[in-house]
Amino acid sequence: MALINCPNCQKRISDKAKTCSHCHTSMAGESESKATIRHIEKSNKLMNHSFIFMTLFVFGAVLWFWGGEVAQGYKLIISSACFAIGFIGYLITRVRIVLHKRKSV
Ligand SMILES: [Zn+2]
Repeated sequence: MALINCPNCQKRISDKAKTCSHCHTSMAGESESKATIRHIEKSNKLMNHSFIFMTLFVFGAVLWFWGGEVAQGYKLIISSACFAIGFIGYLITRVRIVLHKRKSV
């Protein structure tokens, strides 16, 4: 195991370290850009998820009050299921987006 100087803080770190243990600067230039691409791809995926859940939520709400009457029977079950899944899924996805964004900073 060799020791190298961190390009950012000049402190001695292992050449096998992916990030500096002192200032947390990433050591791998190429894999870092790959990680950035992966990060963006995951952000896009999460955005798509939140869009799907939001559509489900709106669909459930529309079905619930379609024609000015509150849905009954199987329609009520379907609409409330869409409404609940869409709402919870949307909230979870929003939290995941916030956590995901925080990770990059
Ligand atoms: Zn450093």
